[in-house]
Amino acid sequence: MQPVLDVKNIECRYQQRVAVHDVSLRINDGDLFSLLGPSGCGKTTVLRAIAGFESVSSGNISLRNEIVSKAGFTKPPENRHIGMVFQDYALFPHMDVQDNVGFGLRHLSAKDRNQRIKDILKIVDLSDYTDRYVHELSGGQQQRIALARALAPKPDLVLMDEPFSNLDVEMREYLSQEVRQILKSQGATGILVTHDQLEAFAVADHIGVMDKGEIVQNDTAYNLYHSPNNYFVADFIGQGVFLEGTLLAPDKIETPLGIIAGDRAYDWPRGSKVKLLIRPDDIVHDEQGNLVGEVCNKAFKGAEILYTLRLSSGIEVLSLFPSHHNYELKERVKINFAPDHMVAFKV
Ligand code: ATP
Repeated sequence: MQPVLDVKNIECRYQQRVAVHDVSLRINDGDLFSLLGPSGCGKTTVLRAIAGFESVSSGNISLRNEIVSKAGFTKPPENRHIGMVFQDYALFPHMDVQDNVGFGLRHLSAKDRNQRIKDILKIVDLSDYTDRYVHELSGGQQQRIALARALAPKPDLVLMDEPFSNLDVEMREYLSQEVRQILKSQGATGILVTHDQLEAFAVADHIGVMDKGEIVQNDTAYNLYHSPNNYFVADFIGQGVFLEGTLLAPDKIETPLGIIAGDRAYDWPRGSKVKLLIRPDDIVHDEQGNLVGEVCNKAFKGAEILYTLRLSSGIEVLSLFPSHHNYELKERVKINFAPDHMVAFKV
């Protein structure tokens, strides 16, 4: 299948400093992708290069099989048939909702334009707000109008740069799920840039985790969590702790919690020192459990409580218990170590 977007080995520089190094990604029609990573890792630079606001110093970017960026050539953003949604919404304050949404539709007849505005406002559930001005809308409504404006001209690709960061946590969660539904209902192809993994998980089919100007793993949310392919991703995605261990056999690691036999084989020399990733779901509450942990921290999460438990060896692990298992600090609870997957990194 011909991808909508094909980014091949791009490098971007600010003056002589490399900000993005050897990034490649392909996005097919109707796919939602997220660039996820900590501040300064280069995700906005990649997005701006795809939009045509930044040039590339090597590699190239194709949209629908046409090269739009390569060293010495950058097709202007307005000719790329891309929709953009920004962190600050960038709506026009002197225009009402229908004029904001209709901004990219001036090439259509008045009748077609009005029909498209009506249709897209219905999709973002703001049909009753056509005459409102931007300052008369909530943050979440403004963001939905910004999305409607980006989608109205039926762009090949929608680019979203931290679109939820001005909203409170609950609104972010709600809107990120809704944005996915809206984009999917339109068959839109999109890229979300965020530093918030829960947003990326809620919106995207595939996620590219970036570190220091490179995509270090491009995968599904499930695989990023359960099969991180490097230490940075293991540490950045989800929660967990690392246990020191020694490789006894390709699929056996000795740890302070016992010998772990896993579903993976590592071809490092026997005796190698490793770090074993332990997720909260690997430590299970069990009255018959053979380990005892003292509660040294707890965080209520609604349906579950995330406990930090100190074992007799002094090692601290995280564990999620159903929230009716409500223990106090310093209480001792029985647990079992039951890792689903073995994930280890050589030290
Ligand atoms: P954030 O989440 O903080 O926005 P980011 O992952 O989007 O970060 P970028 O904005 O792409 O990161 O920046 C990548 C690197 O390039 C950073 O080290 C940044 O300081 C640098 N950089 C970004 N914009 C410029 C610029 N206009 N001039 C010089 N350096 C820049």
